[in-house]
Amino acid sequence: MNWTYFPRLPVYAETPPNEQAVAAALKETPLLPYGRGRCYNDACLSPRLLKSERLGYLLSFDEKTGLLEAQAGVTLGEIVELFLPRGFFPPVVPGTAGVTLGGAVSADVHGKNDEPVTFCSFVEELTVLLPSGERLTVKKGDELFKAFCGGLGLLGFILRVKTRLRRVKGAFLKVKRLKPKDLDELLTLLKEPAAEYSVAWLDLLNDPTGNRSIVLTGSFTELNRPCRLKPLPFLKPPLPRELLVRLYDALYYARGEGETLECYARFFFPLDRWRGWNRFYLPEGFTQTQFLLPEEKAPEALSEVLKLLSSSGLRPYLAVLKYHRGGGEGLLSFIRRGFSLALDFPLTEGLPELMRRLERLVLGYGGRHYLVKDAFLSRRAFYGAYGEQADEFKKLRKELGAAGRFESYLSTRLGL
Ligand SMILES: Cc1cc2nc3c(=O)[nH]c(=O)nc-3n(C[C@H](O)[C@H](O)[C@H](O)COP(=O)(O)OP(=O)(O)OC[C@H]3O[C@@H](n4cnc5c(N)ncnc54)[C@H](O)[C@@H]3O)c2cc1C
Repeated sequence: MNWTYFPRLPVYAETPPNEQAVAAALKETPLLPYGRGRCYNDACLSPRLLKSERLGYLLSFDEKTGLLEAQAGVTLGEIVELFLPRGFFPPVVPGTAGVTLGGAVSADVHGKNDEPVTFCSFVEELTVLLPSGERLTVKKGDELFKAFCGGLGLLGFILRVKTRLRRVKGAFLKVKRLKPKDLDELLTLLKEPAAEYSVAWLDLLNDPTGNRSIVLTGSFTELNRPCRLKPLPFLKPPLPRELLVRLYDALYYARGEGETLECYARFFFPLDRWRGWNRFYLPEGFTQTQFLLPEEKAPEALSEVLKLLSSSGLRPYLAVLKYHRGGGEGLLSFIRRGFSLALDFPLTEGLPELMRRLERLVLGYGGRHYLVKDAFLSRRAFYGAYGEQADEFKKLRKELGAAGRFESYLSTRLGL
């Protein structure tokens, strides 16, 4: 029911057919709103889930301003498919198009943007159902708006989202591939404002020093040709898992530096190319940790992280580094100014110990973990990193009557 098949916890899901049915379902609690389960941990798991899947209507669109109102169960992929041909695109998209508007707001998701923005930066208004059953419109600037952005489904059910789309001239991006010679150059390149979007991939499986990486930068072009990547079915790999990823990474790295035109789907959602790629990690499942390191301490902190990975003998199958100029206006929004590193690991015995050591290291450098990704984070590290804002969020939950009524396995784990 989450993306990683870990942790595996008992859940029961209901799919209300419309907004009235959601309101009726709120009478019986505890529960948790659920989008498409693209979260990597227990943030989207709870004994009773209320799915937004059938809240799938677009309600209004203003061609002049790009302002779209839609129900919370509409996915970013559906928005792109309908609006890209008309020259509009969501300004912030995560690494998969499968997330819903409700899920994107509730995690205040970030993209590869080179500006200090997150998904909620472009959201103007939310229509929510509070735990009391009251239906409320929450506007940007309201105290509740800041809480619902990154609110992890713990304050109420988001029914509708009003958000601005950006104008684009075509579906292609001009993409540059650069190969930094070492970690220092990698950090410098990521910080250069060279394009609209940027991201780095590190081949830590073949070289844990961090010296094999590729920086990708991209900006929308005027090339006016339709493009849409048709996902391929994911087939059981013919080689042992680790060997296959090593080979894939080696080939990917071997492609030289250069410039290409890429369809938006390949640039923003590369993994969506294989339908159900998460089954690659079965039967055990996998986990991802993503943490943010403050800018000034990032060079030292990152080399410590790499040393720790090296000494643990556990290497991530995927490592993605991003630079964030800021953003994240929600109380529990993850993004602050700094570098974030996302690491995917298959589940193995030594992993919990490595996660504990990583957590101490990240906290020691004043960093923080992303709450829809990390499955191991302790209460101490959570409150240590999110501090007063976590306390404020908790207080608000009590005032709204959400504590005990809107609960996830994550909220229990972190004492929220
Ligand atoms: C391949 C992949 C790549 C990713 N890349 C990124 C990335 O680059 N950047 C990033 O920020 N994230 C990324 N993510 C994480 C993903 O964007 C978030 O976990 C997102 O919240 C998932 O949305 P969802 O609709 O599936 O919601 P779910 O996973 O179902 O739920 C996520 C949270 O939102 C809450 N929620 C969902 N719907 C509602 C609602 N209607 N009302 C109130 N609360 C609600 C849930 O209670 C839960 O706490 C990625 C995930 C995958 C699988």
